[in-house]
Amino acid sequence: MSDYILNSPNTFITDSLRGFVAAHPDIAWQSDPGFLHLRERNGDSTVALVSGGGSGHEPMHSGMIGAGMLDAACPGLVFTSPNALQIVGATRWADRGAGVLHIVKNYTGDVMNFRIARHLVRDDIETDHVIVSDDVASDSDTGPGRRGTGATILVEKICGAAAARGDGLATVAGIGRRVVDNARSISVAYHACTMPSESSPTFELDADEMEFGVGIHGEAGRERTTRVGARELVNRMVDPIVDALSLTHGEEVICLVNGLGAAHPLELDLVFGEVVADLDRRGIAIARPMVGTFVTALDMRGVSITLVRADDEILTLFDAPTTAPGWAASPSRSTAPLSDTTFAQPSDSADDGPENEWLTRFVGHVQDSIADLTELDQRAGDGDFGTNMEAALSHFSLPLRGSDSEVLSAISTSYLVRSGGTSGVIFGVLFRELSLAFADNDDFESAIREGSSRALAEIQDLGGAQVGDKTMVDALSPAVDALEDGEPLSAVGQKAADGAESTRDTTATKGRASYVGENARGVVDPGALVVSWLYQATTDNS
Ligand code: ADP
Ligand code: MG
Repeated sequence: MSDYILNSPNTFITDSLRGFVAAHPDIAWQSDPGFLHLRERNGDSTVALVSGGGSGHEPMHSGMIGAGMLDAACPGLVFTSPNALQIVGATRWADRGAGVLHIVKNYTGDVMNFRIARHLVRDDIETDHVIVSDDVASDSDTGPGRRGTGATILVEKICGAAAARGDGLATVAGIGRRVVDNARSISVAYHACTMPSESSPTFELDADEMEFGVGIHGEAGRERTTRVGARELVNRMVDPIVDALSLTHGEEVICLVNGLGAAHPLELDLVFGEVVADLDRRGIAIARPMVGTFVTALDMRGVSITLVRADDEILTLFDAPTTAPGWAASPSRSTAPLSDTTFAQPSDSADDGPENEWLTRFVGHVQDSIADLTELDQRAGDGDFGTNMEAALSHFSLPLRGSDSEVLSAISTSYLVRSGGTSGVIFGVLFRELSLAFADNDDFESAIREGSSRALAEIQDLGGAQVGDKTMVDALSPAVDALEDGEPLSAVGQKAADGAESTRDTTATKGRASYVGENARGVVDPGALVVSWLYQATTDNS
């Protein structure tokens, strides 16, 4: 069974093109012989740009059709070059008297089909071509030479802008070749791609392996090796690019960090940050950053890095406007310096004053139980409860010191600021109400009674949970009842524990646990358990 959402692998490309054209009213499809083009032909007598190649690299090339970029693009089948007649059709359609430039990735099939197409139109149309060959991993003295990868869209952009400003065919082609000469890329994959018609990837990688120098058609790379941290990975990727371009201290580059299909935007940003740091150490400045998914290899999980040595003209053309839907409107600005993007930590320490025994007992109990709490939320919720408790309480060093009100306030702040999820805010409220009540009351029992009652009311107001909904309210509410009945603290702790235990037989209707339905039956609610530990800590002298 295919992993792709499709009707049939046979109609994957055509069905996708149908949606693409519908989504982009400026772009149209000519089914005979098969190419995409700007719906409105550019009226200027400027050089026209045609590109194309196998499908599976979207948004390249289809998404690069637009004013200021491509006039037309010829899609082949998945990873298969378009045929010469498609290219002839696109070339004839695009020409408006000033000639047509073909932008071709360096693969034998593409190069041959574009060449034949140029041959077939040579009596009527002036053409030229730029062959993009930027992949350092395929640099060798024998064979077809470097493959065309990420730099292709930069060539399309820069040539498109040169054509739009009225440069002649030879000039546009010359600028394109200058970009190619000054561009190098390398790609790495953590997971190979799978063809739409297949059920397994083109090659298998072990969980700890990566394919370094991978091609964008699922070709195996230069080296299969153990995965390393992003910093080292980026260093290993940038090295051969800088070498190949002989980039030196003081030079400027356009830097494209490109997702190969299944890399997450968080990963791409992370990689870009590492590239900035790496190039900074080498004294190379990024004149223009570009981070996103532009040149893919179907669903390959990986990333490519492309550097282009920049000069003023290249940057001006890079910055020129385009309507191409796949081109990210990049700011005409250089990279901002790396900044500190950690979250500020609140000052919520409880390490001053007399030892606070009962809250030390409580916090210690939670600190020792993170893994158990995680497991409970994994079985009955979404698995983050332990992490949330850890974020809130693990940084406290024991014993806690300070008055009840002070320590409760520190715990409350910590829950509200450091912890996420429902529990962060719910426990933040509980401890805040307790802290305020202890500030107003000298008597321990009165303070805990008033604070707990107010917290229960506020938490129920906030989240609407009733007893029986499988939340911390199932432990808090019986504790409040016992306190209001004047029962001793040991009985209060026991009622809270009984309440927590009662959640075992219920399913949740609040919080993320409510999405797991019946699966939560038989599992104690972790929030209720933590509440019961708090009340038990008031008397437990163990
Ligand atoms: P999330 O539901 O966002 O994953 P956490 O895992 O951080 O939240 O916390 C889950 C705990 O929050 C549950 O164990 C439950 O005790 C408590 N909880 C969830 N919803 C509510 C609510 N509406 N009122 C009170 N407590 C709730
Ligand atoms: Mg959760």
